[in-house]
Amino acid sequence: MNLRTIDMSRPSVGEAGRTGDWRSSRPVMQPELCLAAKAGKITCQLCWSYCPDACITQGMPPEIALEYCKGCGICAEECPADAIEMMPEREHGTCDLPEGGAK
Ligand code: SF4
Ligand code: SF4
Repeated sequence: MNLRTIDMSRPSVGEAGRTGDWRSSRPVMQPELCLAAKAGKITCQLCWSYCPDACITQGMPPEIALEYCKGCGICAEECPADAIEMMPEREHGTCDLPEGGAK
């Protein structure tokens, strides 16, 4: 079988800068509930595969790049373990940007 690599977009700073400050709510991970973290291996990763902005990195648990997360809530909706909860952004303040990072 001839397998081809698939071109994937990666989050990056665009014309409008970073996009994480568009959010009205943010995903908050509870790692103790994550199936991958509990198994100690890269399994599940449904949050990673469903994120439309590719701002989740696979892991145990996966990591969410808040600079680019737009708060759609799909990751929380798809997580079979309810390990991700959408919380109002105003309870957390704006996300921290790296030194000199463009907004
Ligand atoms: S979808 Fe939920 S259980 Fe699965 S890896 Fe992501 S956070 Fe963990
Ligand atoms: S809330 Fe949406 S954009 Fe943010 S990490 Fe989850 S799926 Fe991705």
